[in-house]
Amino acid sequence: MTTEPTPATRPQVRPPVRDLPAYVPGKPPAARVGLTTYKLSSNENPYPPLPGVLEAAVEAAARMNRYPDMACAGLYAALSDKLGVPTTRLAAGTGSVAVLYHLLQAFCASGDEVVYAWRSFEAYPIAVAVTGATSVQVPLTLEARHDLDAMAAAITDRTKVVLVCSPNNPTGTSVHRAELETFLDRVPAHVVVVLDEAYREFVRPLGGPDSFDGVDLQRTRANVVAMRTFAKAYGLAGFRVGYVVASEEVAAAVRACALPFGVSSVAQAAAVASLEREAELLERVEAITAERTRVADALAHQGWTVPDPQGNFVWLPLGDRTGDFATTAERAGVMVRPFAGEGVRVTIGEPAGNDVFLSAAAQFAP
Ligand SMILES: *Cc1c(COP(=O)(O)O)cnc(C)c1O
Repeated sequence: MTTEPTPATRPQVRPPVRDLPAYVPGKPPAARVGLTTYKLSSNENPYPPLPGVLEAAVEAAARMNRYPDMACAGLYAALSDKLGVPTTRLAAGTGSVAVLYHLLQAFCASGDEVVYAWRSFEAYPIAVAVTGATSVQVPLTLEARHDLDAMAAAITDRTKVVLVCSPNNPTGTSVHRAELETFLDRVPAHVVVVLDEAYREFVRPLGGPDSFDGVDLQRTRANVVAMRTFAKAYGLAGFRVGYVVASEEVAAAVRACALPFGVSSVAQAAAVASLEREAELLERVEAITAERTRVADALAHQGWTVPDPQGNFVWLPLGDRTGDFATTAERAGVMVRPFAGEGVRVTIGEPAGNDVFLSAAAQFAP
């Protein structure tokens, strides 16, 4: 006797999607009478748009009845010029997170594996799960750095993609060039390695032996992908634009999975205008890294041992005191990004906001 399966009584969400972890966005501060508040919870750039960028966006907004250029021709031409790569090696999207979704869609299906360090960027487990693939999370070292040996060892015949986040969100540590090259030599040629360089502009010394350039690495390694964004150093977080530089084949696959007309006209215009203003941009990045040094020195003076901060943020390993610290900081007017039981990530913002953070940190100093 055979029994008919009972028909479902409501729409059935795919299990990996049903069980997705939630992305926790950094909270904005609540407005408070008589207290200046600072949002140091989302690694945003504290500066207003660069001169001329707002004007370029406004000009593009005047054509909002038209679709954007789906081929992103102006943006690809500007990036091609700046990076010295043909436009056929570029794929843009609505933020680098969107480009990562497209890339994973192009390479991963149910049963495949994606290897990355943990803790790292919280978008990774979500993006991987959406494809139905399995996350293989490799713990960071005790210094909160990528354990590249363990990551290489975690690659199996089911691995399709490896994600390397440098500087790592949220711990701030960077992967060094020599260790990365050794790692890349060990990765099978058919496994895609995405180098998430969201914070590369903040690495110091940039071009030193401890830094790498993903765009250079992908020139000679067809499985390496450099992923970059306009959200952090370029200050365009609200406009959503990021891109990858990859081999022609990989870039074409990523573009094929992209939503049509994803990157808006205003975002394309603002990104192009920002690329034209590199000098002013780099001045601001320099000011943020100088401020980062001031904050890190003050923390060390208070007795903290923090991982070497190479992004526009610092990581305070607070363990069980994480929630208490976030509450104390919020009362003082600063929103940080807590990771329950682990620590807080604090963006380098305006000096006055950083000072409020430092006085909260002093109360919790070890
Ligand atoms: C902020 C961030 C990004 C950029 O995300 P967008 O979608 O471009 O805003 C990518 N990777 C990491 C690790 C980040 O922290």
